[in-house]
Amino acid sequence: MLAYVYEEQGKFCMEDREKPRLINATDAIVRVTLSSICSSDIHIKHGAVPRAVKGITIGHEMVGVVEEVGSEVTKVKKGDRVTVNVETFCGKCYFCEKGFVNNCTDEHGGWALGCRIDGGQAEYVRVPFAEQGLNKIPDSVTDEEALFVGDVLATGYWATRISEIEEEDTVVIIGGGPTGICTLLCVMLKQPKRIILCETDDERTEFIKKHYPEVMVVNPKEVDVEEFVKRNSDHGGADRVLEVAGSSSTFELAWKIARPNAVVTVVALYEETQKLPLPQMYGKNLIFKTGGVDGCDCDAILKLIEERKIDTTPLITHTFPLSEIEKAYDLFENRKDGVIKIAIRP
Ligand SMILES: [Zn+2]
Repeated sequence: MLAYVYEEQGKFCMEDREKPRLINATDAIVRVTLSSICSSDIHIKHGAVPRAVKGITIGHEMVGVVEEVGSEVTKVKKGDRVTVNVETFCGKCYFCEKGFVNNCTDEHGGWALGCRIDGGQAEYVRVPFAEQGLNKIPDSVTDEEALFVGDVLATGYWATRISEIEEEDTVVIIGGGPTGICTLLCVMLKQPKRIILCETDDERTEFIKKHYPEVMVVNPKEVDVEEFVKRNSDHGGADRVLEVAGSSSTFELAWKIARPNAVVTVVALYEETQKLPLPQMYGKNLIFKTGGVDGCDCDAILKLIEERKIDTTPLITHTFPLSEIEKAYDLFENRKDGVIKIAIRP
């Protein structure tokens, strides 16, 4: 089968590999029907994910059809259409029981697929702990509609949940890329008083203005965001800030635009260490919450999609066959042709 593999830092390549087989009784084999490229894949390529193992198949965002299940898997069966979770978690340890599945203490727990074990930019994928890692797609929901449930949309949902958003809040989302938009969709469900989204890219800004006209969009290159947020909030700053962009300037912006005692949720995966200037911030009494996603709400998210409350299909701006994934990477990595997300069809 075709599989896109992390060869070495800076290099992915297509290989013909053997179809995966069940290893444990809790595994499932899924025939991938649609996968996607995530910015974390680009981080792997750049060597910014130290735990990524050379030689693994990339890809952690996918949907498919269950081909085979181990003897201990009861939640799904052969033929079921499923979303695959970015995270592998046992469902039994201290952290899993509390819903902190990102910190599952199992040796295979956490972000394993397409990082430490073979992932889904391939024709088939083995999913460990399939009971937790697979969620059935309702019949009325298409593969395209469900594609982001296990990763970017799970991230947006989780970020929104932990940000404790209330109706009187002014919420600022920094970053209007795929994760930023998924976060926006989930924040909108909370119906806060105002939503302000910061984005520097003109194409992304246009996309957000066109699809979500009720959102205030600001470009930090053109507008003093600190001043803008102060002017457009009730208590001298944002009540909730969700930092999804992941650069040093956006990290700084996140705590600067927050009002005292605000919740600042840091969703982004940074490529470098960030500075927290505590002397300057003293007295602001901020509450920081940091990534990554506890992806244990996928059934709830699928229900919201089924009820037509969340629609991420506009994010799929391009579709490529798996055999042409290199073209897709070039487009995604270099942000060509107004790309937001790419669907890869094996
Ligand atoms: Zn666990």
